[in-house]
Amino acid sequence: MKKILALTLCVCLVCCAASNTAAQQNENAGTYTNEETPGAAKANTNEKPGGAASSYTNEKTLGAANPYITAGQSAQPSEELTLTRIDIGKGSTALLVGAPKAEPSETADLPPNPNRLLLVNYSTPIPQSYTAQLVNIGGGHKMDKTAAGYLDEMLSDARKEGLSPVIVSSYRTNKKQQSLFKRQINRHTNRGLTYDEAFNVARTVVAYPGTSEHELGLAADIVAKSYQGLDTKQEETAETKWLMENCKNYGFILRYPQDKSEITEIIYEPWHYRYVGVEAAKVIMENNLCLEEYIELLAVAEK
Ligand SMILES: [Zn+2]
Repeated sequence: MKKILALTLCVCLVCCAASNTAAQQNENAGTYTNEETPGAAKANTNEKPGGAASSYTNEKTLGAANPYITAGQSAQPSEELTLTRIDIGKGSTALLVGAPKAEPSETADLPPNPNRLLLVNYSTPIPQSYTAQLVNIGGGHKMDKTAAGYLDEMLSDARKEGLSPVIVSSYRTNKKQQSLFKRQINRHTNRGLTYDEAFNVARTVVAYPGTSEHELGLAADIVAKSYQGLDTKQEETAETKWLMENCKNYGFILRYPQDKSEITEIIYEPWHYRYVGVEAAKVIMENNLCLEEYIELLAVAEK
């Protein structure tokens, strides 16, 4: 029987993201990044039996004894909404809402990717044992085979809406990532920065080699056919607006949101989508979290 978890955490995760404006634009195509942490916590969330909005319960302040509350009354927990109340500090709370509906039917036969919540970022490199399970997705691109199925469905549905999304980057080898990173450093040293200065700018724009979600095969950079700039104007395109609104339904998140750069250490990238699975994606996108925050919530809940 599926375990139902109800977590209510008093975690000051959401408040630390005072928007840094590192969102300088990422001028050159081919520069993107990504992150992810090992130890992938599994995407449990909380479910609230009964479907009534008010029945989520549990609250737990950080440090309180038992973060798990089983609410096993539901015969069909997988069909239930999952609700979590978190204390975000200063007397405020936020409700995490996850609706663990079935993954899109066309790809429901794909086994879950155990690495979907693997966090990589500047301080958390890709584990040496990681091996991407890649498939060709056309256009010279490769993706993790599970993510590829959901990506295909997402883009197909976008096209049915009359949109023209274009994948401009997907899986990258470590060698390719190194090349992009060096190019970014050169661009800044050519402008007069010291190597160290250039390095510190570069790593907010292009993930340091060995820490890129593109190396995982779980991320894709997607732009509008009509505007392919990797800059903040990308968010104004109909394609990006649709993707930001709907990516969660296919298990993708906008990995580097505008107001989370202090946490992700990557500039705002309104083109970089990371596969995390539908359940996690809904919680993350509906609650304005970044993956680091979500992983930390899970870690606290599992203590
Ligand atoms: Zn990217």
